[in-house]
Amino acid sequence: MNFAKGGLGWIEVVCGPMFSGKSEELIRRLRRAEIARQRVQIFKPGLDQRYSEDHIVSHSDLKIRSEAVKNASEVMARVDLRTEVIGIDEAQFLGMEMVDVAVRLGDMGKRVIIAGLDTDYLGRPFHPMPELLAIADEITKALAICVQCGNPAKHTQRLVASEDLIVVGAAGMYEARCRRCFEPDLASVKSTPASASKQTAQA
Ligand code: ADP
Ligand code: ZN
Repeated sequence: MNFAKGGLGWIEVVCGPMFSGKSEELIRRLRRAEIARQRVQIFKPGLDQRYSEDHIVSHSDLKIRSEAVKNASEVMARVDLRTEVIGIDEAQFLGMEMVDVAVRLGDMGKRVIIAGLDTDYLGRPFHPMPELLAIADEITKALAICVQCGNPAKHTQRLVASEDLIVVGAAGMYEARCRRCFEPDLASVKSTPASASKQTAQA
């Protein structure tokens, strides 16, 4: 919620694992800004083309139109000076420059709403999200539901063996897990054939 008056810039960050409702929350805030007749621009990284090149699409099928960008500098280059609200999804893919860009946009008086994964497939902080949380005016940490036990889930479980930081997920490649059910070793390429068949069974 932005209570700021007189064009004071404002940075909101929504973080959490996959399936925690980050995109839904981002879309909800942006729709409300549109209802308030504010000028809105929405960006997402071009590499995430799972559902649509020109829309952000939530796992629950909410959609909002967006522009695909390669990195944070391209966000800066594309922002129209008249834009009042800027939405950015999957910010963990836009590079460390995203931090400076967010601060610059905030200092220009824009409301900036950023969503992204706070941890990677091994549970490590996923840059630049920790830095974005530090420079934000307001933060929201969302949780998903653990698909194994129903507890609140803070982790994104990768179900395929790959040690690449970025493996853009189609359905069945990731799921939400709680702290207890999280198994970072499942994603290890060194996993045994026995654990590989376990992965297939769970996917
Ligand atoms: P995110 O952007 O964080 O990946 P989305 O906003 O795209 O999340 O999707 C959230 C929606 O995903 C939920 O409202 C729910 O309908 C659906 N969903 C599917 N699996 C889960 C899960 N394990 N936990 C919570 N929501 C889930
Ligand atoms: Zn669990």
